[in-house]
Amino acid sequence: MSNDTNIPKTPLANGTLPSLEGMDWPEFTPGWVWMVGGGPGDPGLVTLHALNALQQADVIIYDALVDSSLLRWAKADTMIEYAGKRGGKPSPKQRDISLRLIELARAGHRVLRLKGGDPFVFGRGGEEAQTLVQAGIKLRIIPGISAGIGGLAYAGIPVTHRDVNQSVTFLSGHDRTGLMPSAIDWDAVSKGSQVIVMYMAIKHMPEICSKLLAAGRDPNEPVAIVNNATRPDMQVLETSLSRIQEDIAASGIGAPAIVCVGRVALMRQCLDWIGQMQGEPPRDLDPLGVRAVSETG
Ligand code: SAH
Repeated sequence: MSNDTNIPKTPLANGTLPSLEGMDWPEFTPGWVWMVGGGPGDPGLVTLHALNALQQADVIIYDALVDSSLLRWAKADTMIEYAGKRGGKPSPKQRDISLRLIELARAGHRVLRLKGGDPFVFGRGGEEAQTLVQAGIKLRIIPGISAGIGGLAYAGIPVTHRDVNQSVTFLSGHDRTGLMPSAIDWDAVSKGSQVIVMYMAIKHMPEICSKLLAAGRDPNEPVAIVNNATRPDMQVLETSLSRIQEDIAASGIGAPAIVCVGRVALMRQCLDWIGQMQGEPPRDLDPLGVRAVSETG
C-alpha cells in the first residue's frame, strides 16, 4: 500500500514562477539549452514550464510561427535572436542553428530554443536536440500544443471523435527539399486513416488531393483548412475533397494552415465556440446525425 511518504518530492528549485500548490519550478542552469514548444499562437497556450523558461533565459532563439508576444515575458536584458525565414531570404541552415545553440551554451548562457507548436512535431526539434546531446550539452525538452491538435480545437474540431475515428494520421505535405514527401504511401494513408491532419500541405494540395481521390477517398469527404489557428486573425475554410482547390482559390486562404480531412470537420457546425462567443448560434446541434439532442438533454 502506498502512502504519502512514498510520493517522490519535487526537489527544491529556484525557478521564478510562483509556487503553485507547493510546486517548485526548475532552475535554468547556465550552459543548458531548454527546447520549448511555443504553442500554435495564442500566448495563453504555452505551458507553465515554458513561462518559467522564458522568465529565466539569457538568450532566446525563436522560429517563424512563434508568437512574438511570448518574448515579452523574457527578462529585459535577454538577447533575442530570430532563426526563421524573413523577407523572402532563405532560413538559416539547420546546422548553423545547432552550432549557434552549442556556442551560446558553451559560453555559459541559459539558452532557450523556442519553436512553434510542439518542438518534436514537424519542427526538426529531434535533429537539433540530437546535435546538442552529441556535443555534450545538457538539455531539457518542454513540449507544446501542436497546431494540428490545438489549432483544430480553436476551430471547433475535435481531432478524434468517437462517432468518427479511433485513429488519426498526422502528415507533412513537404519534405526537406520542399517537394511532396516521397516516403508517404498515399494509398495506405487513404485507406487506413480515418482522419488525416496535414501540416505544410497548402502548396501541394492539388497533388495530395488527387492522390487521396485516386486511392478511393470519397470526393464529398469534409475538409477544414485552418489558417493562423488560435490567433485573432484565424480563418477557417470548410470544404470537401472535390471542391478544395476552387474553394482555396476563391477564399484566398493560405499558409500557415492545418488541413483536416475527415468527418470530424463537420463538428465545427456545432462546436465553433469562438463564433458562439461572438454571438453566432450553433449551425447544427447534431452535425453527424448520430446524437439526438434529447440524449444529451
Ligand atoms: N511544430 C509545429 C509545426 C511546425 S511545421 C507544431 O507542432 O505545430 C509548420 C506548419 O505547422 C505550418 O506550415 C502549418 O501547417 C502548421 N502551423 C503551425 N502553426 C500554425 C497556426 N497557428 N495555424 C495553422 N497552421 C499552423
